[in-house]
Amino acid sequence: MSTTKKRTIWILPDQLSIGNAALLSGRKGNDTILFIESLSAFSKLKYHRHRLLLLLSAMRHFARELTEQGWDVRYYSLADAADSKSVLERYVAETSPDEILIAEPNSHDERSALLTLADKLPIPLTMIPTQQFLCSREEFEKFASGKKRLLMEHFYREMRRSTGLLLEPDGTPTGGAWNYDAENRSGFREWLKAGKPTPSNLPKNKMDNLTQEVAKDLETFFPAAIGLAEDFSLPVTRKQAKSWLEDFISNRLANFGAWQDVMVSELPDLFHSILSPMLNIGLLDPLECAKAAEDACKRGVVPLSATEGFIRQIIGWREFINGVYWLKMPEYADLNTLGANRPLPVFFWHGETEMNCVQQVLTENRQKGFNHHIQRLMILGNFLLLAGISPQEALRWFNAMYVDAHDWVMAANVLGMALHADGGFMATKPYACSAAYISRMSNYCAGCAYDPSLKISPKNGKKACPFNLLYWNFYNQHGERFANNPRAAMPVRSWRKRPESERLAIVNEAQKFLKELS
Ligand code: SF4
Repeated sequence: MSTTKKRTIWILPDQLSIGNAALLSGRKGNDTILFIESLSAFSKLKYHRHRLLLLLSAMRHFARELTEQGWDVRYYSLADAADSKSVLERYVAETSPDEILIAEPNSHDERSALLTLADKLPIPLTMIPTQQFLCSREEFEKFASGKKRLLMEHFYREMRRSTGLLLEPDGTPTGGAWNYDAENRSGFREWLKAGKPTPSNLPKNKMDNLTQEVAKDLETFFPAAIGLAEDFSLPVTRKQAKSWLEDFISNRLANFGAWQDVMVSELPDLFHSILSPMLNIGLLDPLECAKAAEDACKRGVVPLSATEGFIRQIIGWREFINGVYWLKMPEYADLNTLGANRPLPVFFWHGETEMNCVQQVLTENRQKGFNHHIQRLMILGNFLLLAGISPQEALRWFNAMYVDAHDWVMAANVLGMALHADGGFMATKPYACSAAYISRMSNYCAGCAYDPSLKISPKNGKKACPFNLLYWNFYNQHGERFANNPRAAMPVRSWRKRPESERLAIVNEAQKFLKELS
């Protein structure tokens, strides 16, 4: 006589997709869906309030939708879930399931914790490969096999071929080129000249009862979290996320390419999609986002350059970052090739500094837990790199303060891309820039106490921009390492050509600035 196994499908906070690999194998009417709001996991770092709101509200909405669809759902909220392990042990003792199924966690630590937990449970805990990414961990390993350094561009072309996105029937890229980056690098002055193209406002999602309940719970459990609940308007359901995607495709994608690197104080989001918070928790699927963009391009409503730039972010960078993470963890988390050991400046938490670019970006971050990629990389990441801040401290801050932060996103982005802590494994050059770049790409310098073009001299005193001091100090300190790097050798050569007295003065001023930081 055959009996049907009583299974439990455990859904983690960043796996809220109807395409969840474990959920797909579930049987309604037989299996139970389990959600755990682990207080210890949500307390791991000083998370931004909007990150907590997004994850918890989306979890509760997803659980409600599944209940409405007829699933048997067991939900443990913050008040009843000190940590996942104790809840799971209690749940198994009370309900005696035959097996627990779970889509493989997206974070390495979580996966390790689950493996440990699985050994202690009286029933099997089975992990099913996740479907939240287009490139599996095994496929990426194959791509990386035998390579000393990985080039995102090579990986991206493989992804274009395997997905068929922007690809002609003969296998050549649509438009004749794989990459339209050259058309996507306009600066602030070009934006002014173009008549300040301005996007329509982002859609506002009003907080419903469920989100308001979460906001109340956060007051109880995380009263000191940064950010205000009333500023929160991100999608928390699949339906809202889809309409957010449609809004981007219809209203912002056409301009995304040209202005994606520009930073404007009054228009922090400019034409960015802000889809990553929903993509990273499963409310959106990467392929549907890329296909929606490709479809708009085929209809002739969006230029190829903008479409290609967006698709590269989704099937190129996002997948690449995840691939590097799984290839290199857990050792990757401790890398610090440049020996950067300075503590994170406290102004990263309160946002007040005289450097207007940094202040602007931190203020926007405090308000909504979000900055676009150039603000993260070329303002905050650049500052942390040049100032020699500990990559591990920086990583903890990024993981805490962004609505789209998850360990797999931030590890390679912060340690590899921004801080060169992996010695260039995934980025061929350090993303270091002086004030000239910031001044060209933004209007931040206009409102700053510092001057981006002033030389260091006793006469100019403290008016000279710290980014210039730190930039040259960085190449002074790491000249040997980068002298033979084809993409970073130029600043080293130019630094070495300067008179010694000038170099000494710059290094002295930089050291003074750094001393005052801590
Ligand atoms: Fe930033 Fe320097 Fe420009 Fe001020 S002058 S906004 S510190 S780059």
